[in-house]
Amino acid sequence: MSDKAFDCVSCGACCFSRNPRYLKLLSYDASRALPPESLIHENGESYVNFACGHCVHLDLSNGKAACQVYEDRPEACRAFRAGSFECARAIRANGIMGEKVRLPVPDVAA
Ligand code: SF4
Ligand code: SF4
Repeated sequence: MSDKAFDCVSCGACCFSRNPRYLKLLSYDASRALPPESLIHENGESYVNFACGHCVHLDLSNGKAACQVYEDRPEACRAFRAGSFECARAIRANGIMGEKVRLPVPDVAA
């Protein structure tokens, strides 16, 4: 999510999960300007909403995976290192641009 040697905007694999509460906020995140409507609050914990199968702040338009809140991204995102074991695991599990786990786009025409 941060190493310039990796083209994270062509990947985004670590911003996908089918767990809506995948990304838990930590105490460090209290001062970060994350839109309140993007958060889930439950049992005293706060999470960034992943209900659509990826982080609500992940912009997948134009064939890129761009974080829309990069300057205010949560601590867990800052700690996640491109090229790390976890990075390789996210790519293996989710695929580039989340191709292995992307949820179907709902049919709104019906
Ligand atoms: S806040 Fe940004 S870097 Fe973190 S999971 Fe969401 S889109 Fe990815
Ligand atoms: S999985 Fe690794 S290369 Fe892909 S966006 Fe995340 S940190 Fe960057």
